[in-house]
Amino acid sequence: MSSTIDIRKICEWCGKEFIAHKCSTRFCCKRCSEHSYKALRRQKHVEAQNTATKTKIKEQNTGNGDYLTPYQCAILIGVSRATLYRYLERGQIPCIQFNGKTLISRASIDKMFENPPEYIKRERKEAEPIEEFYTTKEILEKFGISNSWLFKMAKERNIPKTVVRGKTLWSRKHIDKALSDKQPSKVAEEEWYSVEEVCAKFNMSKEAVYRFVSERKIGKRKDKCKVFYSRRQFDMAIGVESELEPEYYTMPEAMARYNMTRDQISHYVRTHNIPRTYEGRYVRIDRKALDALFAPPMIS
Ligand SMILES: [Zn+2]
Repeated sequence: MSSTIDIRKICEWCGKEFIAHKCSTRFCCKRCSEHSYKALRRQKHVEAQNTATKTKIKEQNTGNGDYLTPYQCAILIGVSRATLYRYLERGQIPCIQFNGKTLISRASIDKMFENPPEYIKRERKEAEPIEEFYTTKEILEKFGISNSWLFKMAKERNIPKTVVRGKTLWSRKHIDKALSDKQPSKVAEEEWYSVEEVCAKFNMSKEAVYRFVSERKIGKRKDKCKVFYSRRQFDMAIGVESELEPEYYTMPEAMARYNMTRDQISHYVRTHNIPRTYEGRYVRIDRKALDALFAPPMIS
């Protein structure tokens, strides 16, 4: 209804000042009114489309059927995929695995809310004091990593450490956890010697070990910066080493070994042309050749 009063207003579309005759008038002219109406219609349409798209994406991600993949379930309950798989492993969320696909029933998720256990306020855990430590040297030896790698990793993972009398001590628990994948494998322990093991077992210095393995060309393998030597080859080499001393029998040794007289031994040595050397008036009889001569008979 028009009136005779004049109201000064600003057009909501073009922003020009105009004289309105009603308080509810928002636009200066029909044209501005139509433009505004169309713009509003367009905006509503766009919003509706966006909402539909969002719903569709959510449905794609969380599924809209009765069964969810772990990925869809993770999105649904707002946890990471890794966390969800942990729930599955612990049996906290029931699922079935078949033909390489893991499925979770949406109903089972809903069911979890039917008789939920009472809410318990979570107590803040008191941090336990750290009382068990590794020295840097112990870590390097145990896990076969380098010094620089240790310090870099410890900085990244924020491993607690303290310095006591100039020695860095590392939280044993944290190091064990951080380096859990670095534990020397069982295979290494059973079939391979570490340098330290060789030193302890054969009472050798490290330098002697390095020289020995290099001279004897003992098979080795590297595992995370740590060298291991073939246990079998090493034992064999060491074994040969200890049997090396007598390459020969002296006459009394040969007589004792085969329970023969001097003449009998001399006879066999001469007849079968066993290699021998003389040192002054003492004879040295080739041990291998004599042993072979007296070896028990065998048909192979
Ligand atoms: Zn206008």
